[in-house]
Amino acid sequence: MNFIEEIIEKDLANGKNGSKVHTRFPPEPNGYLHIGHAKSICLNFGIAKKYNGLCNLRFDDTNPVKEDVEYVDSIKEDIQWLGFQWAEEHYASDYFDQLYQWAEQLIQEGLAYVDDQTQEEISAGRGVPTKPGTESPYRNRSIEENLDLFRRMKAGEFPDGSRVLRAKIGMDSPNMHMRDPIMYRILHAHHHRTGDKWNIYPMYDFAHGQSDSIEGITHSICTLEFEVHRPLYDWFCEALKIHHPQQIEFARLNLNYTIMSKRKLMKLVQDKHVMGWDDPRMPTICGLRRRGYTPQSVRNFAETVGIAKRDNIIDVSLLEFCAREDLNKVATRTMAVLDPVKLIIDNYEGEEMLNAVNNPENPEAGTRPIPFTKELWMERADFREVADKKFYRLTIGGEVRLKYAYIIKCTHIDKDADGNITAIHATYDPETKSGMPLSNRKVKATIHWVSAQHAKKAEIRLFERLFLKSDPDDCEEGQTFLDSLNPNSLTIQDGWIEEGLTLDNPERHYQFERIGYFCIDRDSTADKIVFNKTVGLKQ
Ligand code: ATP
Ligand code: MG
Repeated sequence: MNFIEEIIEKDLANGKNGSKVHTRFPPEPNGYLHIGHAKSICLNFGIAKKYNGLCNLRFDDTNPVKEDVEYVDSIKEDIQWLGFQWAEEHYASDYFDQLYQWAEQLIQEGLAYVDDQTQEEISAGRGVPTKPGTESPYRNRSIEENLDLFRRMKAGEFPDGSRVLRAKIGMDSPNMHMRDPIMYRILHAHHHRTGDKWNIYPMYDFAHGQSDSIEGITHSICTLEFEVHRPLYDWFCEALKIHHPQQIEFARLNLNYTIMSKRKLMKLVQDKHVMGWDDPRMPTICGLRRRGYTPQSVRNFAETVGIAKRDNIIDVSLLEFCAREDLNKVATRTMAVLDPVKLIIDNYEGEEMLNAVNNPENPEAGTRPIPFTKELWMERADFREVADKKFYRLTIGGEVRLKYAYIIKCTHIDKDADGNITAIHATYDPETKSGMPLSNRKVKATIHWVSAQHAKKAEIRLFERLFLKSDPDDCEEGQTFLDSLNPNSLTIQDGWIEEGLTLDNPERHYQFERIGYFCIDRDSTADKIVFNKTVGLKQ
């Protein structure tokens, strides 16, 4: 049980909030969700599920300039893909009228005022944490004047940045967020939901807690950087005398070799360092999905990482481990040869169908027939002309088993004028077919193959980490995170796949035996299937 669950269980035991649990996930629709958000989603929806409560999806859309419906749609899709369903869908912008009313209420009570200072003057007046700041010369305006100015701000009479509404709390708190914080700013901007109705927009601090309150949220879970905002969250709930949810902070997820700021991810997309938000190298949820991660593997990752009170950095290999672990259970096995060389079985004639197991972890997945012929493709790396004792795969005069087929013995090889191997010749032993009496004759290695005459060509996309540095933000003077981009993060090559591998189910996960986990990419066409490598079999 993590510390948040401890708090919740105590509240339930004490009958607080009518013994109900109601959480929310509050994304700002200004970009696509990433693996850090996935952790927050799993936490908020997971807690609601565990305690028979509810979890809302609330778009924190108070910053019209950067927000868009494209992001709203992608966020909903990603949450559902992760396997969660929100109880209610809300938008902070739906509360703009109520928030405005509450702002007038605070003005009436002498708890808010319109400040005409410039942004610079306001910052300067806040001062430094160790010394009290200075009060604004506009701080003691009459209630009537404040109301009149605030109404005119709303009506659009003043230009952007000319005035703000501030809470009248005091200028001496050691917490800078409490020094007469800004509640509203003037912004003549078009909002993706409210259109041109508003010329003023509430700040995060004047919108978030109240939105939680309106929705009856009991536990408002957020990341550590909001800890210093909590006194303000509490102050507004108390001053307005409204339902007061409890804000609880946890450490955000940080991954090495990974960028998780939406602004920087946006930069990668806009400058075309990647194919888009869903590029398989991106840490976005849609990127992970396209890469071949399963929802279960992402949920397992969030669970394994756990909930901490202190910031830390998680090794990205843990994410890969979680992918491998789940894919091993669900991926359909198939054979594919990515760096092919011809293998000719000189004493074999004709064609037969052999039986291949679809998933040894799941007997219900059954078997499939695969064609065996005289000419096969095998991996170039599975043969060595000159090999030491530790090389157990094919050498001249040596034996290996062909998976699901026979034991073969290499007799000789063909080379072209440049000395490149063009074909490997072997003989097979018919008594060693899988399932026959001699089939358990020991050989040191089993290799995969496909029938050359039947195999289909496919495009294979291999990925490496997008960044070379463990902390891409740790830059030399004059450099940015872009300077640590890995120029070799994407390799595209052709490979040979089993003919039975079709496009009917593009979401399907495959294990290319002995190589790794792959999934079909949406760039596939009827002529050529494109595969993304999700992760290798072993670290
Ligand atoms: P960014 O800084 O990348 O723009 P954000 O925190 O502004 O991210 P929001 O849309 O405001 O993004 O986040 C929605 C929710 O997800 C918030 O509750 C936030 O605390 C949480 N969240 C964001 N990033 C992480 C992370 N790395 N780990 C855990 N939770 C996160
Ligand atoms: Mg945010």
